[in-house]
Amino acid sequence: MRIIERDRKVISPSLTREYSFVFKKAKGCYVWDVDGRKYLDFAAGVAVMNIGHTNPVIEKALRKQIKYATHAAFSDFYAELPVKFVECLLTFLPKHLNKAFLSNSGTEAVEATYKLARWHTNKKWVIAFKPSFHGRTMGSLSLTNSKPVHKERLWPFLPVKHALYPYCYRCPFNNKEHDACTNLYLDVLEENISECEKDLAAIFLEPVAGEGGYIVPPKDFVQGVRELCDKYDVLLCDDEVQAGCYRTGKFLAIENFDVKPDVVALSKAIGGGIPLGATVANEKIMDWVPGSHANTMGGNLLACVAGLATLKFMKEKKLGENATKIGNYMIKRLEEMKEKYEIVGDVRGIGLMIGVEIVKDKQSKAYGTKERTDILCKASEKGLLMLPAGTSSIRICPPLILTKEQAELGLDVFEDSVKEIS
Ligand code: PLP
Repeated sequence: MRIIERDRKVISPSLTREYSFVFKKAKGCYVWDVDGRKYLDFAAGVAVMNIGHTNPVIEKALRKQIKYATHAAFSDFYAELPVKFVECLLTFLPKHLNKAFLSNSGTEAVEATYKLARWHTNKKWVIAFKPSFHGRTMGSLSLTNSKPVHKERLWPFLPVKHALYPYCYRCPFNNKEHDACTNLYLDVLEENISECEKDLAAIFLEPVAGEGGYIVPPKDFVQGVRELCDKYDVLLCDDEVQAGCYRTGKFLAIENFDVKPDVVALSKAIGGGIPLGATVANEKIMDWVPGSHANTMGGNLLACVAGLATLKFMKEKKLGENATKIGNYMIKRLEEMKEKYEIVGDVRGIGLMIGVEIVKDKQSKAYGTKERTDILCKASEKGLLMLPAGTSSIRICPPLILTKEQAELGLDVFEDSVKEIS
């Protein structure tokens, strides 16, 4: 309690804390609060700790490097580690992605993607989706469109149009035929494209909407977006900040849709808990000139050794396969809960990126925002940490090292909490 009071005195009130968990330490899939209580972590530091908390490979890498140097001013001097990190990262990505810009966060990775798209095409407009979340600096915030509070009082924004993201549970088209809906969403997008009057640089897409509610779009929609990008000669910019790094089983979530992006933004899990971001594209697209984009901390040596250790661990431990296996099990159990409880409206996800939408009742589908908060609080009292997403969804994004036993344990607590709030 004392820490929360001190926090309120000195920390910006713009942060949102759903409940009063005060973090102390963490290991693997568990975290402990300041009172020594242990929690199973289904939040993974907001989809950051894919390799698990305090993974020894990170400690080892940081300890080894810190003796030599932490910062090389990579924007101004050459250094091997950032190059080594990018060389390694490229082996995880489709072959055509062969050049990267390094940064320190998701919003910076998106910001660089945005600037690159405008630089390369020399065009003004971009299209993003509603709901989407791409970050909070003014460029990426212009793309973001998930909650009004993010953008309040901050107008004017950069020239961005927002097309409709397919949200099958709340489909505005009310069409029984799935294909017909996908085509309607794509029609809306094509209309937005034509409104840009040949001055469109790129379409920004989250392959699975994160902050907006853990929404999975239909495969043919994502493929349709790619086709429209090709038809109108605009870049497909893939925001993998939350969905990337094997969270959905594949290294890039967009691979689940058999789609190749033109530019990719990565961050969160890529640094294993150390701030790191990357914007990756083909060399023909990453054609900006010296001075057109740079930063002070990008290519930070500690971030790069942590990134290298993270990638190696993810590959060696086959975290993608584990995400698929455990994710499928969890989705199946959550589907069973959906049948049992009136307030569980929708269950959706790929791998260990799972959304559970809470409603007042199945018939009205009225948002169960209060019930969602109650479930999160109840679960935390019982030792399970989760986060909200969208208006009334719960996001389940545990470390990708989660075992079946831990998944079961967490879902037992989740079910108890749902039952009590129902
Ligand atoms: N893009 C996506 C898809 C995100 O989920 C986030 C953060 O949640 C961001 C960008 C912004 O990342 P950061 O908070 O590191 O700036």
